[in-house]
Amino acid sequence: MKIILASTNQKKIKELKDILQSFEVVSFAELIPPFEIVENGLTFLENATIKAQAIKERLGALSEDYLILADDSGICIEAFNGMPSIYSARFANLKASFLQLCNGEFDCNVPNASDEANNLKVLQYLKEQGLESSRANFVCVIVAIGKVKEKEVQVHFEGVLEGKVGNYPLDCQAFGYDPLFLPNGYTSTINQIKEKNQISHRFLALQQFKKFAESL
Ligand code: IMP
Repeated sequence: MKIILASTNQKKIKELKDILQSFEVVSFAELIPPFEIVENGLTFLENATIKAQAIKERLGALSEDYLILADDSGICIEAFNGMPSIYSARFANLKASFLQLCNGEFDCNVPNASDEANNLKVLQYLKEQGLESSRANFVCVIVAIGKVKEKEVQVHFEGVLEGKVGNYPLDCQAFGYDPLFLPNGYTSTINQIKEKNQISHRFLALQQFKKFAESL
């Protein structure tokens, strides 16, 4: 069975391939030309489903068993009323005051921002609120859609990693919000933790997926 990743984010693909080592894994961009997918859902599950469905339609019928694996993930910061959540990748481009952000009053039709800009925005809002840190969760929802042994498959799994965000040194090589995120029980930020791929929200969701895929 082939697993087709619905992502073009190289940092994410690397993590997914690393966790799914025991499977045959390719990115959809290795099979068809990459195309833009408008993630206009209101939840992680809706966005992951939109990505997986869009790629299924473009790929058309495949002769072998396959699962398209789409992950939608982000960081939910308690002091920001759970934001940026599904808007994590485009956070710095949302034109919103802190209050508007917390009330969900912004135009979400904006492009993704750089990891560095997103991190700086978190630090700016924490500072504006007079906070050193805030509790936060990384969330990952995995949707798998495909065909295995003549049967249509559609399932989803969720992983959550609890911790806090704070004013730690930025690292431009790191993925997303990793340089600001300290998982519970750890004394360093997650970009410095070697076993990230054995504790992360993505790992926790993929563990459930792996169990499911191995049972097919
Ligand atoms: P997505 O590609 O729409 O799922 O966007 C997810 C965004 O959430 C990423 O671009 C990152 O900003 C953030 N994110 C998700 N997972 C992680 C992680 O493991 N570490 C750091 N940031 C993450």
